[in-house]
Amino acid sequence: MAFEGLSDRLQDIFKKLRGKGKIGEEDIKTAMREVRLALLEADVNFKVVKDFVERVRQRAIGQEVLQSLTPGQQIIKVVHDEMTALMGGSESKLTLAAKPPSIYMLVGLQGAGKTTTVAKLGRNLLRQGRRPVLVAGDIYRPAAIKQLQVLGEQVGIPVFSMGQSNPVDIARASLEYARSQNRDIVILDTAGRLHINEELMDELKQIKSAINPHEILLVVDAMTGQDAVNVAESFNRDLGLTGVILTKLDGDTRGGAALSVKAVTGCPIKYVGMGEKLDALETFFPDRMASRILGMGDILSLVEKAQANIDQEKAREMERKIRKQEFTLEDFLEQMQQVRSMGPLDELLGMIPGIGKQMKGFKGEFDEREILRIEAIIKSMTLQERRDTSIINGSRKKRIARGSGTKVQEVNRLLKQFEESRKLMKQFADLGGKKGKRGGMP
Ligand code: GDP
Repeated sequence: MAFEGLSDRLQDIFKKLRGKGKIGEEDIKTAMREVRLALLEADVNFKVVKDFVERVRQRAIGQEVLQSLTPGQQIIKVVHDEMTALMGGSESKLTLAAKPPSIYMLVGLQGAGKTTTVAKLGRNLLRQGRRPVLVAGDIYRPAAIKQLQVLGEQVGIPVFSMGQSNPVDIARASLEYARSQNRDIVILDTAGRLHINEELMDELKQIKSAINPHEILLVVDAMTGQDAVNVAESFNRDLGLTGVILTKLDGDTRGGAALSVKAVTGCPIKYVGMGEKLDALETFFPDRMASRILGMGDILSLVEKAQANIDQEKAREMERKIRKQEFTLEDFLEQMQQVRSMGPLDELLGMIPGIGKQMKGFKGEFDEREILRIEAIIKSMTLQERRDTSIINGSRKKRIARGSGTKVQEVNRLLKQFEESRKLMKQFADLGGKKGKRGGMP
């Protein structure tokens, strides 16, 4: 997971401070030295680190922290605030044209993830009720056009292509196409190069002046750290960017690019790529990212993920079953599958406050294979057994274990877990009922 090293280091530093009832200037000095090192090691730009630490230090030695009853927590709040500000403060939205189509031009070096991101962005906008068209403008990279056509088909968005024609002509013609087909957003893929060169910039400038895009978004690979920031600086200087999309943040990146880009270039990060799959493009929220880095979790993103993935109708039905204690093993399995469809478990767990840091320990228990085993056990039961576990006697257990390739102990453990979660759910449901509130997810 991205930021893991930085996140661990920062949490250790603040844990030491939290343990103290009173904090003096000396403690702050030591902590700030450690924060500085942790940020440098995460490959955050040198000057950005210096300014950041100074701002935090100023606030930390002020009234806000030292006079507070919980100085250890107060200082984390200061760091959280400053980190949020460093990454741009608040969400930076895409500009929509007063008169459609809105034109978004994606630029970047080869391999950054540009073509994939064109499709991901299209998918996001489509889900918001827009009618995008993707434009195959990367005429140099072999197979880029075909790649976009395949992706377009997967996300159900038309792809405008003119083969290897002149990219400026393609861009112009795509606007005509969008107007004639009543498409309200044009997302243009452009050619990348292995390195920045004049030829590339000239071509991009020509396209820019021909179509006047509402957004010029640079796609950069977060794994390349400070190189990503340098690339952003060059593109911004030559082309004028409106924002950055940082890809591959799901990987093992140290996070330096995410923390430096805005401060160095002035361009906000608008989206982050969190995986190869087409649903893995997330809006970038500086405050939520700061929370994740500081191990405070990201409940808001988790809830949104749940809302996007979980069928609301089913959730209400589930809630009703829990209240009436009709919740069966089949429902249990269905819920598990829904949670799984939300993404890799370790990523989800990282969004829960307090879990991030302990993740390593949890990984074993939340092993995906464990879920597959549970699935196998439940699938080896008859419908009757799934709906009423009380009929599962010794010989039935043996049969289920055989059928699922597990042991009787594992079947027992699952039944026990299920009973416990049923009890817990009942308690929650009762609680919700007493307060007269509708719980969302069970
Ligand atoms: P382009 O040359 O910039 O158009 O790059 P592509 O769109 O072909 O992407 C290059 C590679 O990066 C592909 O294998 C993509 O699947 C992968 N990729 C793109 N975005 C992400 C991301 O957010 N996370 C991960 N893990 N891989 C990504």
